[in-house]
Amino acid sequence: MPEECLFCRIAEGKVPAKLVHSDDTCVAFTDINPQGKLHVLVVPRSHIPTVNDLAPGDEKLVGHLFSVAAKLAGDAGVAADGYRCVMNVNRDAQQSVFHIHLHVIGGRKFGWPPG
Ligand code: 5GP
Ligand code: ZN
Repeated sequence: MPEECLFCRIAEGKVPAKLVHSDDTCVAFTDINPQGKLHVLVVPRSHIPTVNDLAPGDEKLVGHLFSVAAKLAGDAGVAADGYRCVMNVNRDAQQSVFHIHLHVIGGRKFGWPPG
């Protein structure tokens, strides 16, 4: 658990965030720069820098992140209309925090292909 990792520090409660979910595996909190009425980040407690660093055995963890995403979308009332789950990976996708996180964004219509 790198001391300098922002999302490790949020998961540990050392940096404040607007938590909307917490369990033994992950936390979820409101994005500081929301891109929709709903924009939360679902973040595992374990430090994994990018999707490229997932190891065999992490499948359950990743599945859990999606289960939490669906629950939070339901709580926010956007599940039926739709929402987007995104994990940016490295430079071309503009990943800026190198601790994996699932963006859950909803409450508006999206374009496709994404920018
Ligand atoms: P990425 O670009 O890595 O896919 O997403 C990182 C996300 O973290 C961005 O949407 C950014 O707004 C959000 N973020 C960065 N710093 C903070 C912070 O200190 N608090 C919260 N709640 N979100 C943050
Ligand atoms: Zn971390």
